[in-house]
Amino acid sequence: MLQLGVQFEGPAEQARTGRSRAPLQRRGRGRPRDPFVLGQAEIVVAGQIDPARRGTRRALSRPGAEPGVAAGGRLGLEPVEDLVGWQSWTGCVHSWQSRTTGMTGEERGVAEAGELTGRFEAMPEDWQRALAVVAHPDDLEYGGSGAVARWTREGKQVVYTLATRGEAGIDGMAPEEAAVVREREQIEAARVVGVDTVEFLDHADGVIEYGLPLRRDIAAAIRRHRPELVLMTNHRETWPGGPWLNMADHRNVGLATLDAVRDAANRWVFRDLLDEGLEPWGGVRWVAVSASPQATHAVDITDTIDLAMDSLRAHRAYLEGLGDGPMSDPSFLREFAAQTGARFGGGLACDFELIPM
Ligand SMILES: [Zn+2]
Repeated sequence: MLQLGVQFEGPAEQARTGRSRAPLQRRGRGRPRDPFVLGQAEIVVAGQIDPARRGTRRALSRPGAEPGVAAGGRLGLEPVEDLVGWQSWTGCVHSWQSRTTGMTGEERGVAEAGELTGRFEAMPEDWQRALAVVAHPDDLEYGGSGAVARWTREGKQVVYTLATRGEAGIDGMAPEEAAVVREREQIEAARVVGVDTVEFLDHADGVIEYGLPLRRDIAAAIRRHRPELVLMTNHRETWPGGPWLNMADHRNVGLATLDAVRDAANRWVFRDLLDEGLEPWGGVRWVAVSASPQATHAVDITDTIDLAMDSLRAHRAYLEGLGDGPMSDPSFLREFAAQTGARFGGGLACDFELIPM
């Protein structure tokens, strides 16, 4: 149930006129940036391009200029309606393509706007065991499964723990049925990238509460699997590169995971876990956050991008439920990976915010 920039819905009038602006707050490598200003350009979020949710419509313009006037004056020569744009939440790159000319934003010089050039550092790989903790089936497949595939190929062990079975994630399917279908799809998606242990904590999809029960369940998982690296999905308020709000499930599970790493190491927190034979584990060295607006590190997934796409395709019922929007076609993962890779050696890559513990 990832809710991304492509699903941003501006009021219809905004979409028609392109006059309304939504503030943009970008942060890279911890450096605050001014809202609206992206290098020498200004992002104007005009809203949705059409009812089929093909993507958001945007234009670049100089600060203070009318929306639609491009950085360098070029983008503004195109009718805004011509652009099919979407937000890369893995690579922090804005990308769009002309419906008529096929030109991409990069070809139009959008990349010259002065942003998106910072380099990612390499993720540490001197570890053996990782535990991924996410809210929903598909969260890992929209973010880090290419990296997981690489790591399992290298002989590392990765376990998936999901707070829910994603039962509220398909509008046209009742939760009782969706829970079964999505559990099966998640297990297959994990198998594709070399993960054979998938756990479900059975919190309620869509209404996951941050609190001690969630922290306890995640702390127990950390003690069971004793990871050196914990993976999770973006817990921050927005997705990379835009004002698009993250959802409560992701925020709550992410924050609880960060807290549970500490809980898992403290013998006197959740003492009943000792009765279950779960001794404290203080060996988590890092938490890596995928789809974070504050990404710092990356992993080359050139050799595993196909597995990443296959793992997303395993969520067949979920993708069908999305309709024909861009997020339902796993091939977009390759484009995002290329955008991230441009900041990390030139291949395909996925990025993480790395938090040392
Ligand atoms: Zn999700």
